Amino acid sequence: MPTTILIIEDEPAIQELLSVNLQHAGYQVHAAYSCHEAQQQIKQQMPDLILLDWMLPDQPGIQLAHALRRDTRTRDVPLIMLTARDTEQDKVDGLEAGADDYLTKPFSPRELLARIKSLLRRRAPQLAPDPVQAGPLTLDPSSRSVHLDEQAVSMGPSEFRLLHFFATHGQRVYTRTQLLDQIWGDHVFLEERTVDVHVRRLRKALSTVGQEHLIQTIRGTGYRFSTTHSS
Ligand code: CA
Repeated sequence: MPTTILIIEDEPAIQELLSVNLQHAGYQVHAAYSCHEAQQQIKQQMPDLILLDWMLPDQPGIQLAHALRRDTRTRDVPLIMLTARDTEQDKVDGLEAGADDYLTKPFSPRELLARIKSLLRRRAPQLAPDPVQAGPLTLDPSSRSVHLDEQAVSMGPSEFRLLHFFATHGQRVYTRTQLLDQIWGDHVFLEERTVDVHVRRLRKALSTVGQEHLIQTIRGTGYRFSTTHSS
């Protein structure tokens, strides 16, 4: 089944440009020219991703973004905002309204495609459902839970993916770029320090059961999962 993208944009020329490029890239495209029209379409069919313009004739796109995030049905739909605005505050407003990404016009279709691909991969990471052993820890991808014996170790979804990746990829060293590609599906638009932040959170979670040593820093290279204590 092709991935469906709903484009909410009132400018016919831009709507056309986006449609042509996305169709060419293999996506099934639906067009809406106002927030109202978009909501009608979403009611009938949930798209896999939404491109949302900021300036629309009936209401600001950002208002629709808020509404989509409030609704449990559309809460998790990947959402990219398109806009001519490019001030820092607008960007913050867009992201706070629940947009996953933000693209300022004019943008290249190539960049848009790369961001769509990256967002889809981030939102739908491929995890095998089988439980995995990570040293003394048991990871259950279907419930995203981690246990040490009977004790649950609570962590965020990114930390879970990171630990799952390490646990299923042996005791070798991975660079931050490799980890961004493997776990977030993108090393182009995310910064390497993203990895450091999540490693820090993961270690903090693991420290609640005394297992923070499982993730080792290899100076100048990256990170490694190891069940043996480093010297
Ligand atoms: Ca517009």
